[in-house]
Amino acid sequence: MTAIATLGSHCALQVLKGAKDEGLKTILVCEKKREKLYRRFPFIDELIMVDSFKEVLDAKCQKTLEENNAVLIPHGTLIAQMSSEEIESIKTPVFGNKWILRWESDRVMKEKLMREANLPMPKPVTDPKDIEKLVIVKRQGAAGGKGYFMAASEEEYNTKRNQLISEGVLSKDETLYIQEYAAGVLAYLQFFYSPLTNELEFFGVDQRHESDIEGLGRIPAEQQLKSKKVPSFNVIGNSPLVLRESLLDEVYTMGENFVEAAKRVVAPGMNGPFCIEGVYDENAKFTSFEFSARIVAGTNIYMDGSPYYSLLFNENMSMGKRIAREIKIATEKNQLDKITT
Ligand code: AMP
Repeated sequence: MTAIATLGSHCALQVLKGAKDEGLKTILVCEKKREKLYRRFPFIDELIMVDSFKEVLDAKCQKTLEENNAVLIPHGTLIAQMSSEEIESIKTPVFGNKWILRWESDRVMKEKLMREANLPMPKPVTDPKDIEKLVIVKRQGAAGGKGYFMAASEEEYNTKRNQLISEGVLSKDETLYIQEYAAGVLAYLQFFYSPLTNELEFFGVDQRHESDIEGLGRIPAEQQLKSKKVPSFNVIGNSPLVLRESLLDEVYTMGENFVEAAKRVVAPGMNGPFCIEGVYDENAKFTSFEFSARIVAGTNIYMDGSPYYSLLFNENMSMGKRIAREIKIATEKNQLDKITT
């Protein structure tokens, strides 16, 4: 029997509940500090206790996973806490494409893949001297929006950067990525692509709630102007969104373009769940500033199934359950190598 394993964070509960519902064994790689939390959930069959998630790379942990015929489900925590080299060295089969995770972590590669997929992107600004409009300044990797800031001129960029360095949020030698700020309604488009059926499924949309940039909208302009604090984009949680039906066709096209582009640049392509993240402007034009090449935590809002999946499946289907279903089908057909790397 195949087992499903993941790291104890991000969307682990959803992933393992979905696996259990599909009748698969569930394994959680759990940091000691989180043991109490995860022991509350009876659908987790086995906990591998670690001091740090990096221990997933150790022979001992990999042996346990191998003995269980485990497939590892990658998520944001794996990317945030391990280097691309470390992820690529994992011996346990990784669901989806572990090679594409490097394209998610590296800003230059990310931009290249998004261009290849024809996604409309905000203009990058290569030198702070060239800041003419409102820009957002980002850190490398999956920093989760912490330490990001906005600026409308080189001077403002320098002031805020220096302030964040003195506060210990940024380090002096950190390379920052600058991009024009895209204003509008945030929409994080969640998909699943199955290489078994060659079908792209649209799962749902979420919005992220980020602190403390959102808190700023709750205080009067007078107090905003007096505030010296640089607001951050640290994700706190997610909420659901459904789109105008007239936007769906374009959503599928963007997803398909992304899948096609990934097939061209990073074999075996964009298999499994992924997310295209951006904003809709006043003309309902989508601008994408980011993608995630694996399950996103925003799918946690649909643990009982999403509105769009209720159109495709006559049962409650979470993203975690969809992943487990794919693994089950591939195992039965002896095609696990098609959906793992
Ligand atoms: P990211 O790490 O690129 O996902 O960015 C984190 C957050 O910053 C996003 O969830 C958005 O709220 C915001 N953001 C990033 N890029 C842009 C942009 N170009 N325009 C507007 N908001 C952005």
